[in-house]
Amino acid sequence: MTEKTKTYCLINYGCQMNESDTEHYAGQLEEMGYAPVDDFHIADVILVNTCCVRESAEKKIAGKIGELKAVKTKNSDVVICVAGCMAQKDGEKLIKKHPQVDLLLGTAYVNDFKQVLQDYLADRKGGAYTDLTIHQSEFEGRMVRQSPFAAWIPIMYGCNNFCTYCIVPYVRGRERSRSVENIVAEIEAAVRDGYKEFTLLGQNVNSYGKDWGETDAFARLLRRVDKIPGVERIHYMTSHPRDMSEEVVKAVAECEHICENFHVPFQAGSSEILRRMNRGYSKEKYLALIDLIRRYVPDAAITTDIIVGFPGETEEDFEETLDVVRRVGFASAFTFIYSKRSGTPAAKMENQVPLPVKKERLNRLMALQNENSLRYHQQLVGKTVEVLAEGPSRQADVWAGRTRTGVLVLWPVEDKKYEAGQKVRVLLDAAQTWLVKGKAVD
Ligand code: SAM
Ligand code: SF4
Repeated sequence: MTEKTKTYCLINYGCQMNESDTEHYAGQLEEMGYAPVDDFHIADVILVNTCCVRESAEKKIAGKIGELKAVKTKNSDVVICVAGCMAQKDGEKLIKKHPQVDLLLGTAYVNDFKQVLQDYLADRKGGAYTDLTIHQSEFEGRMVRQSPFAAWIPIMYGCNNFCTYCIVPYVRGRERSRSVENIVAEIEAAVRDGYKEFTLLGQNVNSYGKDWGETDAFARLLRRVDKIPGVERIHYMTSHPRDMSEEVVKAVAECEHICENFHVPFQAGSSEILRRMNRGYSKEKYLALIDLIRRYVPDAAITTDIIVGFPGETEEDFEETLDVVRRVGFASAFTFIYSKRSGTPAAKMENQVPLPVKKERLNRLMALQNENSLRYHQQLVGKTVEVLAEGPSRQADVWAGRTRTGVLVLWPVEDKKYEAGQKVRVLLDAAQTWLVKGKAVD
């Protein structure tokens, strides 16, 4: 009799770094002979990769972990793992609250998951692995990537910045950079597997290599990756405005495959709020960086992250945020309501802004940014853009893909056949807030 193939289900929350970690968990499970399933009710191993950057994310994830209690009651053999930032932050407390959890993996244990799971299966003794002093930085093993053509490539882990609102440095530890050789080897292997588009990931990619005492190592890395045969598009995130150097902007301007989009979170427009956020730049410095980017890359798409309602934010401070949004004309923006994260300095600050005020500011900010996004899309109408096809949109006879700067493009299939990762030239004829539409020209 043949033995039934064991299965796994991964449930991912949070940022691109988590998505990348989840692909690494999948790789290790498949090395152990597990096959993926979408329904966690029928999986032998369930892993929830968690985020704790805002309270809203934590609440949603706690609900999902709660749902797994019934699964464990029905089948005590199922292995339930909780990984990522919330696991790191809450440790044993999380297991006490959710006894159905067998294994808790902190953010430094991604590479060790296979071993931890094998040990667990041998003696069924669970526990929390949350030591952050393991400073592993090289990537080993394989990834099972979600996309057939676009790959996440972590180039560094952790964060040294300690912005006063942010939990990330406490749960992801100090910065450590992967070696250039290790990164290049991963990208070359992905190219051999058909990958074309690469996003280099780090909490602050501009500090890449600083842990070995190097300066401008990120600009050099960009130029190195640009030369790898088969690499068609390079993106990177996130850039801290304080650390983004002219060398990086020049590399984007000069290298064919580095896409002309710049994600530079400014968080708040008021220099006083920025000081209390410990961001290390003023409103003027940020605007000067935008000028520098536009000087080298005139048609750059600039995107950002913004927080409203940081403790002590007055109406005047918020007006400064709107002023930056108006002046820069961001192609798109991620906008957040400030969320109190216990253990961070901002959580103890006085003058926390009431929720209704935060919500009202967020609405005004989003309305303004929506006008910007629409305007950005409108100026693309009449142009022919290069799109990497992703797949059918909600309508099967309309395909979706993205431009080099990340704009979502829809076009009718007509009588043609497309495949994911194919380059298509699309003449744009309509713009909306979230996307543009057009017709394929070849
Ligand atoms: N390292 C990146 C950076 O510095 O821009 C981003 C990391 S963080 C996961 C992504 C975004 O979440 C931040 O840019 C910030 O806007 C937002 N964020 C972080 N902490 C927050 C908090 N306590 N409340 C609301 N938004 C927060
Ligand atoms: Fe958080 Fe600031 Fe580090 Fe980004 S740079 S992860 S916002 S502490």
